[in-house]
Amino acid sequence: MEKILDIQDLHVSFQTYGGEVQAIRGVNLELYKGETLAIVGESGCGKSVTANSIMKLIPSPAGKIKQGSIAFKGKDLTKMSDKAIRKVRGIDISMIFQDPMTALNPTLTIGDQLTEGVRQHRRVSSAEANKQAIEMLKLVGIPNPDERMKQYPHQFSGGMRQRIVIAMALICEPELLIADEPTTALDVTIQAQILQLFQRIQRETGVSIILITHDLGVVAKVADRVSVMYAGKVVETGTRRDIFHRPSHPYTQGLLHSVPRLDQKGEKLIPIDGTPPDLFSPPEGCPFTARCPHAMEVCSRIYPFHSELSETHAVDCWLQDERAKKYMASPS
Ligand code: SF4
Repeated sequence: MEKILDIQDLHVSFQTYGGEVQAIRGVNLELYKGETLAIVGESGCGKSVTANSIMKLIPSPAGKIKQGSIAFKGKDLTKMSDKAIRKVRGIDISMIFQDPMTALNPTLTIGDQLTEGVRQHRRVSSAEANKQAIEMLKLVGIPNPDERMKQYPHQFSGGMRQRIVIAMALICEPELLIADEPTTALDVTIQAQILQLFQRIQRETGVSIILITHDLGVVAKVADRVSVMYAGKVVETGTRRDIFHRPSHPYTQGLLHSVPRLDQKGEKLIPIDGTPPDLFSPPEGCPFTARCPHAMEVCSRIYPFHSELSETHAVDCWLQDERAKKYMASPS
C-alpha cells in the first residue's frame, strides 16, 4: 500500500509563563492511502497537537516544531514556507474541527462558504463552483441542496451543520482528511450517521482519514488502524483487531477496561487511577509508571524500547521486551 504520510520523531513544545510544555515528544506515525487511522488517548495526550502540526497550525511564537519530519507524499511539510503550506491546506489536506458552529461563518450562506474554497484554490467560474458545491451537498446527504445553498448555518441542525463542514473539507478533493473529534458535539444517533458518512465517502473518493478521538466506540466502528497516545508519545499502534483483541500496553488495556463493551457483557468497568504526568518536566522513564499496575523498577528510569509484536502491531512497554531484566538496576 502507498504511504502518503510519514511522521518521524516529531517534537512540539509550547512556551508558557510557567516554562516549556513538551506536548509532543518523539511521535512516529504512518498513514497509507485509503485507510482510516484513529489516534486515541486522554485529553492533553497530544492528539490534537499532532493533527495541528500536520496542518502547520501550531500557534507561533508560543508553539514550535522543535524536531522531526512530517512527510506528505514524500515532501517534508515542516520545511515548507507559509505560502507553500497554504496551497497544501484545503487542496491536498483538509481538516474538520470538533464544533461545526465555530467552523461556519454565521453571516454567510452555506453556498458562499462552500464555493469560496473551490474558487480560491481551483480558480473555477461561479457556475462551476456552484455545481460542485451542490454535488458535494448531495454526497454528504443534504436534501434539496439547491435550496439549502441559499440558507445560513443557524437554519440547520447540529448534524446537518457537521455534514456541511465535511462537505467544505472535501470540496477540493483532498487526499488526506483530518477529523478532530468530529462527532463529540453530536448525539449518538447523529454520530452513527456521520460515521457511516465517513465510511461511504472513503469508499467513493479513496481519501485517507486521520480520526482524532477519545471515544473507543467511534474507533471500533471506523478505524483500520489505531495509534494510542499517552503523555506526548505513541505508546501502541496496531490494526483495530490488534488493539481491541490483543491490547499490549497497560494504558491501552486500562482504556478498554474503563468503557462499556457490547462484546463483554457483565464485566466490571475499572477506571485508570491517577493523572497523566506534568509535561513541563516529563519523566525520563515510561510516563505511565505512576499509574501502571505492572510497573517495574526499570520503568521509572528508562523509556522502553519500541517492540514489534507482529508486522502490524508495536508497543513501547518493558513488559514486552526481554531486555527489561538486563536494564534492571543491580541491588546495592
Ligand atoms: Fe507499565 Fe513499565 Fe510498561 Fe510503562 S513500561 S506501561 S510502567 S510495565
